[in-house]
Amino acid sequence: MGRTLSRSEDACRELSYDSAPFSNPEHQMTIRTRFAPSPTGYLHVGGARTALYNYLYARRHEGTFILRIEDTDRERSDEASVAAILDGMAWLELECDEGPYYQSRRGDRYRDAIARLLAAGRAYRCYCSKDELEARRAEQRAAGIKPRYDGRCRDRRDPPPAGIDPVIRFRNPLSGAVRWDDGVKGSIEVQNAELDDLVIARTDGSPTYNLTVVVDDIDMAITDVIRGDDHVNNTPRQINLYRALDAEPPRFAHLPMILGEDGARLSKRHGAVSVLSYRDAGFLPQALLNYLVRLGWSHGDQELFTRAEMIGLFALADVHRAPASFSADKLTWLNHQYLKTLPEAEIAQHLDWHLRRRGIDPGRGPELGAIVRLLRERAPTLVEMAAQAEFLFRDLADYDERSARQHLKPSAEGPLK
Ligand code: GLU
Repeated sequence: MGRTLSRSEDACRELSYDSAPFSNPEHQMTIRTRFAPSPTGYLHVGGARTALYNYLYARRHEGTFILRIEDTDRERSDEASVAAILDGMAWLELECDEGPYYQSRRGDRYRDAIARLLAAGRAYRCYCSKDELEARRAEQRAAGIKPRYDGRCRDRRDPPPAGIDPVIRFRNPLSGAVRWDDGVKGSIEVQNAELDDLVIARTDGSPTYNLTVVVDDIDMAITDVIRGDDHVNNTPRQINLYRALDAEPPRFAHLPMILGEDGARLSKRHGAVSVLSYRDAGFLPQALLNYLVRLGWSHGDQELFTRAEMIGLFALADVHRAPASFSADKLTWLNHQYLKTLPEAEIAQHLDWHLRRRGIDPGRGPELGAIVRLLRERAPTLVEMAAQAEFLFRDLADYDERSARQHLKPSAEGPLK
């Protein structure tokens, strides 16, 4: 992809897995986690929390934190979204140790895995058309059965119909169950009879999410998959795919979702959800991280955590099972705590950024540390601090004549001075 490297990308290494065998035993000893966003917009707070937990878990265990960009869905991914994710990670200083890897560059690995599955009889071509599938689903619904692929092409012996590009389906085991000990949710068991033969390659041969993610996690020797619980339904299918590819599944931990204050899943509807919009709104990265770490995890009743404390204390066992509620007020409170207590120089750097954003040259006014000292008690965000500081940098280009006449009387001169 032809674009400029951002800070987080610079900081990471890209190892080539192209020639690596499916399991790299060298990696098995150390903890390896990954954050695997699909670049379909920006880095939102839920994604940032997932990234943070993966980062903390890896750091806590002296492991490796990997960033993987899941950009196989070409229509929905774009370079601006990739850049927004990298910039969001860089602003939060969630440096990865490896990556970013791009799924769009790993097509050979996916084709290879699909070919292996076909050759081993663990996958098959399915020629059922969309209309046929829809008609059968409607019949199943009418009969009160949960709609699912009926396995028609699973053991097809007759020659395939001409002129149809098949999809490739995984031959999911028909009996037995898949069980795992989820790092957050505890023991989960799903009957294979509940699982469809999922499509692993589309009619144009492109691989689907469940296949790419398994191939990547095997190749990258991921030991712990920590992700949102919107993926919990994919996990049993993925575990079956691992086994079919002769690989040991990693450990899984599914994080409860984040709700807005109205109890609905946090979304754009609730206002700002992108990490960089919080930067723009005057939040410190330290405050947002501290807020995110507490959003679904706790350590006693401690509210403020330095990064070193987060790393030292974070444990999956303390991640809550119940959904977390996003509170803008609490985030603002935390931000104010950080503005009041961080070293002036650190806050001054951020204030500098916000002043420039308002078109102010921070060199043409008082020293920024002095401004921080003056305003930190009453400005809960950097945007407010910059707004309150603005008059210190600007000539009075215009003013309200009437108020001036009313208030700027000789008697006011003394107190004003
Ligand atoms: N790319 C997926 C997403 O953004 C995450 C995949 C995973 O963590 O397994 O939701």
